[in-house]
Amino acid sequence: MKLSWRVVLLWALPILVIGFFLWQGAFSSPAADAGRNTASTRMTYGRFLDYLDAGRVMAVDLYDGGRTAIVEAVDPQIDNRVQRWRVDLPGNTPDLITRLKDSNVSLDSHPPRNDGALWGVLGNLLFPILLIGGLFFLFRRSSNVPGGPGQAMNFGKSKARFMMEAKTGVVFDDVAGIEEAKEELQEVVTFLKKPERFTAVGARIPKGVLLVGPPGTGKTLLAKAIAGEAGVPFFSISGSEFVEMFVGVGASRVRDLFKKAKENAPCIIFIDEIDAVGRQRGAGIGGGNDEREQTLNQLLTEMDGFEGNTGIIIIAATNRVDVLDSALLRPGRFDRQIMVDPPDVKGRLDILKVHARNKKLADEVSLEAIARRTPGFTGADLANLLNEAAILTARRRKDAITMGEIDAAVDRVIAGMEGTPLVDSKSKRLIAYHEVGHAIVGTLLKHHDPVQKVTLIPRGQAQGLTWFTPSEDQMLISRAQLMARISGALGGRAAEDVIFGDAEVTTGAGNDLQQVTSMARQMVTRFGMSDLGPLSLESSQGEVFLGRDWLNRSEYSEEIASRIDGQVRSIVDHCYNEAKRLVSENRDAVDRLVDLLIEKETIDGDEFRQIVSEYTSVPEKEQLVTQI
Ligand code: ADP
Ligand code: MG
Ligand code: ZN
Repeated sequence: MKLSWRVVLLWALPILVIGFFLWQGAFSSPAADAGRNTASTRMTYGRFLDYLDAGRVMAVDLYDGGRTAIVEAVDPQIDNRVQRWRVDLPGNTPDLITRLKDSNVSLDSHPPRNDGALWGVLGNLLFPILLIGGLFFLFRRSSNVPGGPGQAMNFGKSKARFMMEAKTGVVFDDVAGIEEAKEELQEVVTFLKKPERFTAVGARIPKGVLLVGPPGTGKTLLAKAIAGEAGVPFFSISGSEFVEMFVGVGASRVRDLFKKAKENAPCIIFIDEIDAVGRQRGAGIGGGNDEREQTLNQLLTEMDGFEGNTGIIIIAATNRVDVLDSALLRPGRFDRQIMVDPPDVKGRLDILKVHARNKKLADEVSLEAIARRTPGFTGADLANLLNEAAILTARRRKDAITMGEIDAAVDRVIAGMEGTPLVDSKSKRLIAYHEVGHAIVGTLLKHHDPVQKVTLIPRGQAQGLTWFTPSEDQMLISRAQLMARISGALGGRAAEDVIFGDAEVTTGAGNDLQQVTSMARQMVTRFGMSDLGPLSLESSQGEVFLGRDWLNRSEYSEEIASRIDGQVRSIVDHCYNEAKRLVSENRDAVDRLVDLLIEKETIDGDEFRQIVSEYTSVPEKEQLVTQI
């Protein structure tokens, strides 16, 4: 809003002013004034004198101090009819007047329009006035706008840094796939709507609820839905907005926010990314951050300062509860933690249903199929997916979204924008071998996910891609599956190596190798899947920079470290040999598939398996399919 107003003003001012001048010019110029009541034909001064000599002129009206005349004369060219012309006169011409009088022409003179002069003066003043007024207005506004020039002057009183929505318009029905979270929060709605029910029995209404979950899972949406269901205002601010350059600004923002909220109770205060302010105090590289700590202290003070029953409930969101200061998690502050996890297949289906409500889907579209194809997608990803599909449908000028657009949109959300295919060349051949390498290893290993399609159409960073049908969100992955994944990921490099030789392998496998190394390392250090035995040697995330202390990281000796490296290496070596073996043993199938891939650019999984099965036996895959 602010921005658009400023832009409008900025452009509208000069346009208005220029428009005004043009308008003024058009109407107050005497020539135009004269032209209004006449035919617009012009006559030269010489011709006019000729006509005068010939006695054709009947009347002359002088305008503009005698510089323009409207002449009524008999036109010999059109049956001697009386016509009117405009004549530009050469300024002050007393003899002309005398001649006109002598020839008995009816003569009249019109004074220049006085109001024109008045307008002219006003017009001259108007521009600077508008300009100065406009600038003043802009300056006034921008001093309230974050980062504007007035910022430094009134940093103590922050304004408009938090948002208030009187009605969010979001209800629980708009949030799907996170049923447990919704159920827990249902109670919060009751706190807001019927606090008596709890206070009557002496219960203390919780002040803070912490929503914990990865980005895009619907935390913001959920908070809005609570406000929407309870019909209370929704104040929101992002944790990062508390943290400012000037010490004390964040704290004063917190104070402002709570003051406003108290005036509007009952209401919801939503603090997004609370980890930005709420991190462990005094931790992290370079020690604490004074400003952040002051802000956090202020937040704690405010939370303690109001009684639990004032009807303000603070909802905060974070995806890293582990870095939060423990003071925030104490009872009486954010004592309720609600996990908002990425949805499972059923949840994805429900979310798709929510977002399909306002979209036109063809009958053939099966939301179940989409839900199955998208393990790991969050609510935001799914919303984005349907939107991309809708955009694609509009671009293709279809009436309803079909499965074709949905598939294209899934690919796009997962792997990025489609590029133009390479022209046939040596590198295209090499990429084809690389992809077929992944696909054939994946197909021939019993524990690998089945191939969905292989394509040479570039997408995002990748020149070619092999898609595997992900098995349904598996909680537990076996050692055999991990080994198969590592072999499959090495299949591309293995094919390059087998077909083109050691010297020709390319950088194309860089990404694959990164994944391979990380999988193998985790097998050794986290999952106890190596000769080192069932030991956990590393925690899941190395939180070096954010919050936690970073010194006590290595919990093992140098000797163990080198044994870990040895184990990782042996896993990778084993899988690489397996991949190379599969490629070279099936060289004929690989060559044929590569030719086909270069010709068709995409081979789908069934056709791929069909061709492979003509050469060797393809193992049955055991795929878990959850009922939905
Ligand atoms: P977060 O705050 O967890 O990062 P958001 O609440 O901002 O995620 O979600 C972004 C968008 O994604 C929402 O506006 C909504 O359109 C969609 N979305 C996310 N999760 C869900 C869900 N569980 N149900 C329906 N829509 C969702
Ligand atoms: Mg959010
Ligand atoms: Zn690859």
